[in-house]
Amino acid sequence: MSKTLNPELRRALAERVRYYHELGIYDFYRREGISASATAVESDPPESVPVTQPESREEMPRKSAAAVIPDHKTFEVLSSRPEQNVADPAAGLKLIREDLGDCTRCKLHQQGRKQIVFGVGNVHADLMFVGEGPGADEDAQGEPFVGRAGQLLNNMIKAMGIRREDVYIANIVKCRPPGNRTPERDECETCSPFLMRQIAVIKPKVIVALGAVAAKNLLAINAPMSELRGRFYDFMPSGVRASENAWQGAKLAVTYHPAFLLRDPRQKGEAWKDLQMVMKYLGLEPPKKAAE
Ligand code: SF4
Repeated sequence: MSKTLNPELRRALAERVRYYHELGIYDFYRREGISASATAVESDPPESVPVTQPESREEMPRKSAAAVIPDHKTFEVLSSRPEQNVADPAAGLKLIREDLGDCTRCKLHQQGRKQIVFGVGNVHADLMFVGEGPGADEDAQGEPFVGRAGQLLNNMIKAMGIRREDVYIANIVKCRPPGNRTPERDECETCSPFLMRQIAVIKPKVIVALGAVAAKNLLAINAPMSELRGRFYDFMPSGVRASENAWQGAKLAVTYHPAFLLRDPRQKGEAWKDLQMVMKYLGLEPPKKAAE
């Protein structure tokens, strides 16, 4: 049976699906048993009203029902992320960057950013670091963790027996919050779906969340650092299915943000314990000298 869709309804559906994509929602399911009507697609009926009523369905002219049945292809095409079936992670990240464009999705785009700081590093990395957001140096250079905190992060990575070029580094938000303020909840929620897609493309074995903002946004847990640190979490980016590309997700560890360690160097020993836990999991050799 040919199932065509009213062009206006098709456009409305496409807009709605795009809107969900912006929120990081990619999977859509068709509920069995719902009669194919425009109102059923637009909004669910009240709970007290049965979803299908056989009497009225039998009376419904077949032609009009067929005219409003959603075309599955509309959902199939629009619900897949452009990078989803791309095997090369570099190409996948390029597609995500193109999708991001000259982003104006949250208010950070008009609060003095010089450029979007997408992320940098090895697209095949086993280890990924996620910070909070770009600072002044990162905003100027277009690369995450390049200022003083970045220098300390480099030292931490070196102390693990690897190089900065071996890992991938990104942030929860990609535009600098004015005055280096903490990114606000709506900004994190708007931007982080792109980070989730980056993670899904890179498929790291371990993600290290640097600081409370990164940890809380990735884990959706509101807890102090003392409770978040010291253990691994099983992490799967939202909008990604475990069956996708045979990737079972990453282990996520939480440690202090390097900027915090610059302010309170006494906590470096604690951060080193977190990194040692990660090294053990990844089978990295203990270095001769710990990070300063
Ligand atoms: S922070 Fe993210 S969502 Fe907001 S404008 Fe920048 S790139 Fe877009």
